[in-house]
Amino acid sequence: MRKQLISFVRDYFRTDEFIPLHAPVFTGNEKTYVADTIDSTFVSSVGAYVDRFEQDMVNYTGSPRAVATVNGTAALHVALKLADVGPGDLVITQPLTFVATCNAIAYCGAEPVFIDVDRHTLGLSPSALEAWLDEQARVDDDGVCRTKIDNKVIRACVPMHTFGHPADLDGLMAVARRWQIALVEDAAESLGSFYKGKHTGAFGALGILSFNGNKIMTTGGGGMVLAGEALADRAKHLTTTAKQPHPYEYIHNEVGYNYRMPNLNASLGCAQLEQIEQFVDAKRALASQYEAFFSGTEYQFVTEPKECRSNYWLNAVICENKSHRDALLKTTNGQGVMTRPIWALMNHLAMYQSCRKGDLINSQWLEQRVVNLPSSVVLKAD
Ligand SMILES: *Cc1c(COP(=O)(O)O)cnc(C)c1O
Repeated sequence: MRKQLISFVRDYFRTDEFIPLHAPVFTGNEKTYVADTIDSTFVSSVGAYVDRFEQDMVNYTGSPRAVATVNGTAALHVALKLADVGPGDLVITQPLTFVATCNAIAYCGAEPVFIDVDRHTLGLSPSALEAWLDEQARVDDDGVCRTKIDNKVIRACVPMHTFGHPADLDGLMAVARRWQIALVEDAAESLGSFYKGKHTGAFGALGILSFNGNKIMTTGGGGMVLAGEALADRAKHLTTTAKQPHPYEYIHNEVGYNYRMPNLNASLGCAQLEQIEQFVDAKRALASQYEAFFSGTEYQFVTEPKECRSNYWLNAVICENKSHRDALLKTTNGQGVMTRPIWALMNHLAMYQSCRKGDLINSQWLEQRVVNLPSSVVLKAD
């Protein structure tokens, strides 16, 4: 089976060389727009491509506004600040995520609380969230959710759309509303993924995207805050050193951040975003091949949740147990076909091991079994 998988992947990617998990493709107007930016000399913090990239992203995602940033982590940091997350607060998230989710919470002086994921969506489980809140929290007369034992404010909840598969947003929105907790979506991996026809990242009060080199499209490094008008204005202000508009004077009215995306990166982003639907189609074509390949085997291929269109950013299989997983990782990587286990649970990392957590049965089960497969966009001529 493992041998067959290796030849299946080699056939698909048509190469005998090393096959990475994910490589970017630049088949559109990338060189034209980047050269245009250089010719204009506006490579840095101002320029027309930043505005255009933000507008293009609004059109694509349907979010009222989009604010470009240097990377996804910075976008999440600012989004959490705009959700009023501050020192001493608690922010609920999932233990199965990339470390940036938790780091952004820590940058605010807040502490993550780890709640289990759903085995099917791989995203935060609404029922686990509700169960933990029922046991641990209450909503006070001031409309603020606090822990029963030590009156800590539970300010926000950050679900993550794992590998591009949308989490159960209806369920999560309902729980967050009931408990008066702001929903901030970490949609770093899910550009191109829709839940019931609406783009991920556009459900919560705030959402963020990432355009790192390994995501479905890239700006080299980059991110985006998705929000409504008022919060987006605040995001723009905070990410551009909180400078008040003035023709020549420097007046900054709060501690801001230098988090804006350079125009050079935005020009690359405009060209990549023009091709996003082609990229998603290519990912979905590969995913359906994997799905057919694994059907009837001891591996369970991870498919998109019901009523969702997933971008299948990183394809994944669930192995029968940890020793099967280890054998798969060893054979494939030994043969130059890159595969990778899912992240170690965040509550196992030194800096987050003493954080509060619920029952993490599904996360622990998945941690031992999930393997990511080569998932680069292959544009087949047809
Ligand atoms: C990629 C990613 C981010 C942000 O990453 P940057 O490299 O800072 O753009 C945040 N959360 C998750 C889950 C990610 O996968």
